[in-house]
Amino acid sequence: MSLRDLPSVERLLQSEIGQETVAEFGRSLTLQALQEQLQLARASVRAGNTTPSADDIFTAARAALHKWISIPLVPVINATGVILHTNLGRAPLCSKAQIAMRDVAKSYSTLEYDLVRGKRGKREVHAESLLQKLTGAEAALVVNNNAAAVLLALTALARRKEVLVSRSQLIEIGGGFRIPDVMRQSGAKLIEVGTTNRTHLNDFEAAINERTALILRAHHSNFKIIGFTTEPSLKELVRFGQEHGVPVFDDLGSGALLDTAQFGLGHEPTVQESLQDGAPLVAFSGDKLLGGPQAGIIVGEETLVKRLRKHPLARAIRPDKLCLAALCATLQHYLRGEAVSKIPVWQMIAAEDQTLQNRAKRWVKQIGQGEVVASRSTVGGGSLPEETLPTWVLSIEVRHPNALSKQLRSAQPAVIARIEKDRVVLDPRTILEEQEEELIRVLKQTLQ
Ligand SMILES: *Cc1c(COP(=O)(O)O)cnc(C)c1O
Repeated sequence: MSLRDLPSVERLLQSEIGQETVAEFGRSLTLQALQEQLQLARASVRAGNTTPSADDIFTAARAALHKWISIPLVPVINATGVILHTNLGRAPLCSKAQIAMRDVAKSYSTLEYDLVRGKRGKREVHAESLLQKLTGAEAALVVNNNAAAVLLALTALARRKEVLVSRSQLIEIGGGFRIPDVMRQSGAKLIEVGTTNRTHLNDFEAAINERTALILRAHHSNFKIIGFTTEPSLKELVRFGQEHGVPVFDDLGSGALLDTAQFGLGHEPTVQESLQDGAPLVAFSGDKLLGGPQAGIIVGEETLVKRLRKHPLARAIRPDKLCLAALCATLQHYLRGEAVSKIPVWQMIAAEDQTLQNRAKRWVKQIGQGEVVASRSTVGGGSLPEETLPTWVLSIEVRHPNALSKQLRSAQPAVIARIEKDRVVLDPRTILEEQEEELIRVLKQTLQ
């Protein structure tokens, strides 16, 4: 066996399968794949192995080609029971939002066009009026995500000035978002106020001066401080700010528009409450409890929102047409008072105990394995830490639960399950009904 027995790239390309591969993947990519395989083959022959055949080379090259051209961002089945799973893309969109996105994607649109005047319009108008109606705020602005909203507010309102924040709110929410880092990036100077567990209004009183441009209140999001704790209420902070002519910026994080307490969860502060308490500027995410696309939403007083809108950074973090289309469609469900029945995140939160149990029971019957046991789902997405919802899961006992969950992850579509007490469990709460058929097929294939 020698290197000379290896076919040349030209011969491989001219073979029948070579021509077929070129037709399927294009000449340049096929060439690249064959060259890579030939290089590997040469190294293998030099190491004393047998010379691979042309067929062997094509099998490997085509496997590589399929991998190269596959789309890596694909839908999965979320069986974890974590509703706002950041790693799995947070909120699945309602069907109106999906349709709105598709319509705007395939055609030209009124993104920045005023049909009445036949002239250039503003992309801000679409979501702004919906947000005004929903929250009662004077003005609204949509940006790429909430991290960008916070950065924009700090930059536009407090660059080279000072921002007061309670030490208990110097949060990190994961994915590199830390209040002190965002503050540094904005060019605002962070003034820490109070202590980790207790901050009083007179701590703010002691820190405020003529350089203070903003008071930031950040929602704790993913943790709880319990025990000997105190923080001034938003109302108190707002009144204090008014006395000193300094606006309060409320970073609400998840930004619920509905009360989570009606579903047996703790109360997550709502956008409307912040505005009612007088916060002149409130920011929140589009894809957490709002249940829409990734976006950062800012609502509040026109004079402040205008300063953000006009800042050059606003242009760099503006939302695209797909985001705006999906956001408007989602917001319309709130306006019509049908969010709980139309928006997947709220449907999941509101899912009835009996419905969940029936679904899990049906799966047991269909796959002929496993049992239905009580468990807990969580909201996730940095909202309502420690809070859970009672659920019923399909629980599968196997000798190697880790191996089974790995197999489920490599299925098509991938199923992401949870391991609990050495069993693989699947929570119907986060599994969309239209995914059930696929789920059963994957489970049957994997378990046989
Ligand atoms: C989630 C969150 C953010 C970041 O929002 P993204 O939309 O993920 O950028 C900022 N602040 C708080 C308090 C949050 O909970």
